[in-house]
Amino acid sequence: MNRSAVLLIGGLAAAECSVRQAPPSYDLVVANGHVMDPQSGLDGVRHIGIRGGTIEAVSATPLAGSRVIDASHLVVAPGFIDLHEHGQQEESYRMMVRDGVTSAFELEVGTADVPAWYAAREGGQIVNYGVSVGHIPVRMKVLGDPGKGLMPAGIGGSGRADEAQLQQMEAMLRDGLAQGAVAMGFGTAYTPGASMSEIEQMFRVAAAGGVSAHIHLRGGLQGLQETLAAAARAHVPLHIVHVNSSADADIDAFLTMINAARDAGQDVTTEAYPYGAGMTEIQSALFDDWKTWPDEKFGLHQLVSTGERLTRATFETARAAGGTVIIHGRTEEQTRKAIASPLAMIASDGYIEHGRGHPRTSGTFAKVLGKYVRDEHVVPLMDALRRMSLEPARRLERRTPAMLKKGRIKEGVDADLTIFDPLTVIDRATYEDAAIPSAGIPFVVIGGQVVVDGGNVTTARPGQAIRAPSVAR
Ligand SMILES: [Zn+2]
Repeated sequence: MNRSAVLLIGGLAAAECSVRQAPPSYDLVVANGHVMDPQSGLDGVRHIGIRGGTIEAVSATPLAGSRVIDASHLVVAPGFIDLHEHGQQEESYRMMVRDGVTSAFELEVGTADVPAWYAAREGGQIVNYGVSVGHIPVRMKVLGDPGKGLMPAGIGGSGRADEAQLQQMEAMLRDGLAQGAVAMGFGTAYTPGASMSEIEQMFRVAAAGGVSAHIHLRGGLQGLQETLAAAARAHVPLHIVHVNSSADADIDAFLTMINAARDAGQDVTTEAYPYGAGMTEIQSALFDDWKTWPDEKFGLHQLVSTGERLTRATFETARAAGGTVIIHGRTEEQTRKAIASPLAMIASDGYIEHGRGHPRTSGTFAKVLGKYVRDEHVVPLMDALRRMSLEPARRLERRTPAMLKKGRIKEGVDADLTIFDPLTVIDRATYEDAAIPSAGIPFVVIGGQVVVDGGNVTTARPGQAIRAPSVAR
């Protein structure tokens, strides 16, 4: 019996019906879980009633449902929202969802063709997905870069843009926003030919479109200062991606400078992933100076396809061939400082293909919850959950109202839930085998459907496109 029928009968014959009425039955009930909602501060045992993809009840008393998940001794959190995920395909989604991710965004690199990007994923994915329009791919198109991967391999990175090319970039970025991109992506580390005035010009397009600019910046602390200044002049909300790897040994100074900008009223946020190594394409501009390196530096580089550490000779061969490389070198103390900062959202920067990639794809969120929250007490649990769910939702919700219904647990929001055991949750993926799923996350619910059930990925594909409303140009 549905609710309106119950109300109707109840109104006609209240006394008679009150004894016969069945309790409202939900599609799915998550019972007895320790519900933690970073927005309201709710931190206690509740029963969650879900119907039609929506949380309809958060109750202190038991609820009845077609299916009941017993979440006794488990934490029930808003599904994790990853703002930095390059692996936008089934293989990566399978790893991420077992790490608790329910919405995955590619915002740093983004795409030059927003409608095609969404069209390629239509019909239901494991998790929800969304994309930015990206300055990097737009620049590669306009300047005619030869690169076949995500990153420029030539003129798209190193070339200078003339006035006509700048106007073409502006038009393509504006189109992408009109077509529903949720943000604008930048990577000045990959586009050394792009002047800061070019970047500021594109920041203004993002500001006019009401979206945040997500940037992998170049040039360390000075680069941060220049980027903050350009963003302030353009009045664009700024998001510094992976502060841990952009800062390296300067992590204290980076966080201090970002905090100072926030204190001065600038809209700037950041993110971090909990690993001491990075990963990128070996043909990218990050390695343009490789011939000047001392011999010992090559050994910090690990080829993803084979797992081997490189030498000067093998690096040269690998750079000519292309592919991805893991870059070791940050200390555990640097990583811990980035993760401990209340400023940093948790974002994976993940990518995996044919079982090869970086362990951050598979283990970022469980590693923060297991190692940094439980084992090392570096981050309070509620604060970690805030930085995994509520804050990423807030970053996007001004331009993308769909995000107002994510990152929270309350009546009326989307039923995206990550249910984990705080005593056992942990990452297991390694640099040698990045495709080992995290442990201790027995259930993940997306749009009211159980996508991880007893630790296994089900056949449900409830993941939907998350787009900003299209606007006429
Ligand atoms: Zn990235």
